[in-house]
Amino acid sequence: MTASFSKLQLNPALAQAVADMGYESMTPIQEQAIPVVLQGRDVMGAAQTGTGKTAAFSLPLLQRMMVHENPSTSPARHPVRALVLLPTRELAVQVAEQVKLYAKHTKLRSAVVFGGMDMKPQTAELKAGVEVLIATPGRLLDHIEAKNAVLNQVEYVVLDEADRMLDIGFLPDLQRILSYLPKKRTTLLFSATFSPEIKRLASSYLQDPVTIEVARSNATASTVEQHFYAVAVDDKRRALVKILRERGITQAFVFVNSKLGCARLARSLEREGLKTTALHGDKSQDERLKALESFKKGEVELLVCTDVAARGLDIKDVPAVFNFDVPFNAEDYVHRIGRTGRAGASGLAVTFASPSDQRLVVDIEKLIKTPLELEALELDEGQAPSGERFNDGGRGQRSRDDEGRRRPERSEHGERSSRTDRPERAERPARPAPKSRDPFFDQPYQASTPAEVTPAWESAPKTSTRISANIKPKRKLAALFKTDTESQAS
Ligand code: AMP
Repeated sequence: MTASFSKLQLNPALAQAVADMGYESMTPIQEQAIPVVLQGRDVMGAAQTGTGKTAAFSLPLLQRMMVHENPSTSPARHPVRALVLLPTRELAVQVAEQVKLYAKHTKLRSAVVFGGMDMKPQTAELKAGVEVLIATPGRLLDHIEAKNAVLNQVEYVVLDEADRMLDIGFLPDLQRILSYLPKKRTTLLFSATFSPEIKRLASSYLQDPVTIEVARSNATASTVEQHFYAVAVDDKRRALVKILRERGITQAFVFVNSKLGCARLARSLEREGLKTTALHGDKSQDERLKALESFKKGEVELLVCTDVAARGLDIKDVPAVFNFDVPFNAEDYVHRIGRTGRAGASGLAVTFASPSDQRLVVDIEKLIKTPLELEALELDEGQAPSGERFNDGGRGQRSRDDEGRRRPERSEHGERSSRTDRPERAERPARPAPKSRDPFFDQPYQASTPAEVTPAWESAPKTSTRISANIKPKRKLAALFKTDTESQAS
């Protein structure tokens, strides 16, 4: 049992807001982070969305800023004092909504700015003066350049979902933004994973930070039943539908690696009679919020999404997550499957791996420090190969729309960034070799790293790991998990 908020002796206006929210006790990240931030220390926090980390940084920042609270209408009396940077607009909106709720009994003002929207209303809010500014990096730089946002009085900076910001390619933007801020400040960095890049970012911009971890970094929840199936690219959709039907899964997230693949798969599943919505960076803000609402209400069965579009969405306890494409970054695997099996509920995470995904699966295995086993999935004969429709993008039409016109390449996050779009791997021509000749499928398994933890699916009751009599026993695969160098070394 964690401690009560009363222990913190928050300003009555903030304590009232917490009570209004109905929170009874602090979550572990809150219990650990709030006192540290109240002391003015920098924090490096390993915590995912859903742990209560927004309150963990917002409440102590607001508490410390209460000394600046004033009723003046003059913008000069409301300079930006706290800056919260996030990788996506959805996440920015969610955090801004929470900050507004926590600050509602105070006179502190907050605003959110993100790309893909008209700058004018954002400009008007900024010009009126706000103490807490929540922003995505690209749009914030636009406002800085337009002199709408002045950051020379910032006392607190939060880099939220920092690993994601680096993945997206926001590092140069972050560096520029941080260069505008006073050196004397409190910096909080939250990240679901602590990659070497994150550690470098922290050592450059944080001073003597307190490290707070609420779960082992890069850990996957033990309540998630994970399966990796060897599925040819063209059979993935059929495999997905089969598992959904056999397991009676009512709602799931389906992750793909590209916007184009996302839209195509969603259309294809829709034709299959499944209520499906695509969520990717090309969708307007309105469309994305509507898609989310429909999914939350249960009107949509499948949310087909890209990593960037799904990041930070406050949707918990999705019964199943499918990795239709193996993610390019192993960290994304942790993020993706973190959507299921939350808060003690059991969840299912299914990944479809084709032979060309070998290296990506090895990366995941190394990151989660768990040997992975590839299972075979037998699909019913007699159906047309499922991939034909949605995979026709793989025959050289990567940058074309459905009418074959060239599409401009847009970055997934819809923001300025130095990153060029990731290759749309899922849509590359990828006819796998026949299974029986492919070492990916044939060689006996040897773990590339010693297992540190018992994989959830191995400790789970045997009955729950089999989904159908059609599924052959798991085959262990060495070639899949051994890189060339490792093979030579051993
Ligand atoms: P976050 O990880 O900040 O996205 O928070 C996830 C969800 O947990 C949000 O819907 C919050 O409103 C909720 N939440 C945050 N702190 C608490 C708390 N102490 N008790 C109950 N719910 C909370």
